Amino acid sequence: MWNVYCADCGHDVLVGYSRLRRVTNLASGVIALELRCPAGHGVEVLTGRATHDRASDSPKP
Ligand SMILES: [Zn+2]
Repeated sequence: MWNVYCADCGHDVLVGYSRLRRVTNLASGVIALELRCPAGHGVEVLTGRATHDRASDSPKP
């Protein structure tokens, strides 16, 4: 599961693997996850090695 911020809900939500809609490799070490929050809103999360290198800029996993 992921703990992600949903801008439409206005708070963090827990999202399970079944809510994963798309995984896109944007660049080397940068992966975009397209998720659906429990209320059905689309949430996009950037992850991967390149985003973890900048972890001090963002508290998100
Ligand atoms: Zn939502």
